[in-house]
Amino acid sequence: MYNLKIIIIGAGIGGLTTGIALKKAGYQVEIYDKVKELRPAGAGISLWSNGVKVLNKLGLGDKMAAIGGQMNQMQYRSYKDELLNDISLQPLIKEVGQRPYPVARTDLQQMLLEAFPGTVKLGSKCVGFEDFGDRVTAIFEDGNTATGDLLIAADGVRSTLRPYILGTEIEPRYAGYVNWNGLVKASEDLAPKNTWMIYVGEHKRASMMPVGGDRFYFFFDVPLPKGTSTPPEAIQKELANFFSGWPQVVQNLIKQINPLETNRLEIHDIGPIDTFVRGRVALLGDAAHTTTPDLGQGGCQAMEDAEVLTHYLLTTNISVEDALKRYEKERKERANAIVLKARKRADQIHGKEPEITQQWYQQLRQESPLDVTNAISKTILGGPLH
Ligand code: FAD
Repeated sequence: MYNLKIIIIGAGIGGLTTGIALKKAGYQVEIYDKVKELRPAGAGISLWSNGVKVLNKLGLGDKMAAIGGQMNQMQYRSYKDELLNDISLQPLIKEVGQRPYPVARTDLQQMLLEAFPGTVKLGSKCVGFEDFGDRVTAIFEDGNTATGDLLIAADGVRSTLRPYILGTEIEPRYAGYVNWNGLVKASEDLAPKNTWMIYVGEHKRASMMPVGGDRFYFFFDVPLPKGTSTPPEAIQKELANFFSGWPQVVQNLIKQINPLETNRLEIHDIGPIDTFVRGRVALLGDAAHTTTPDLGQGGCQAMEDAEVLTHYLLTTNISVEDALKRYEKERKERANAIVLKARKRADQIHGKEPEITQQWYQQLRQESPLDVTNAISKTILGGPLH
């Protein structure tokens, strides 16, 4: 279809990638976000090869390589510092045809913002929309409106527009664990600079991966009941308690973090939901399929959404509604399967059934590195760009 004007709500990874893809396809695009200043939630993200391939197609491959970390190995160690598995990522890179890139979120957001050849209107909170059949109007809290041929709701886990599309409210589901994350200066005293290091035990994780700018993105996971909180100045003490007796490297990491710049969040997911589209309005990214971070696929799925949506708008010519229905069919199957797979993995890692977590620790000791990379390749190759 030609000459479409598209309104996107949300300037996160999903909204920005979609905006870039649609502009590249020749459409008019306007992006709106409720915040006055864009600041990504979270410090880092690992973009697996399926996400990177979408960026390659948008001409951002070199820029991504410049801000991404060189992650060549993945190493699992126990909380008693026993080496469980040391996995080369080369077979994976060869199999899927693209290396993954861990990246600082601010760098990724900056790159996407610079690549979007249009304006992102900030301070614009969308509160609803009206679908007139031949066009759709987004309504903002300040009384402004924006009208286009279609509306993309890329407004995240607590999407304002989702209830209008589903006809019902859904509460994000607590995944049963808290995640702390941030950035520290990379140092060989903490981990080899080309390695994703993961310490596991007691249903918890402590991890570091290299991102651009000679930094490690770190995270800690601990299963906790819903509703706990800790002021930033007490975060190091909290982590020291949860990880007491863990290897010296983990103690050093806790000492080196900046608690005021460490995020502490309860992990949620959404779905699977059956409806991504209503008329001329489509959910995209976390608004449609919030995914626990245990496969590192949530942001990559938002990028796949961008690719598939653009593909159907460009290549089908019956109607906007028809193109969106095709997008829904393809993305529902793929993204919902990832939501469920990530949920199962989150349970396995965080001791929902302790004997299953014990089996996983055992499996990590015995598994061939190729089995690990083959499993990751399978997830990556299930995406739209092979
Ligand atoms: P968001 O990034 O949430 O963006 C939504 C935007 O919409 C926001 O800017 C918000 O301000 C705006 N908005 C909301 N409501 C309105 C409104 N009413 N009007 C206007 N604007 C509005 N994914 C990976 O691929 N790899 C990883 O390694 C990875 N690690 C993760 C680690 C953690 C701890 C977490 C929590 C997630 C992780 N993810 C990862 C998932 C990834 O972060 C998300 O899937 C991704 O950021 C979703 O992007 P989005 O654009 O859909 O939503």
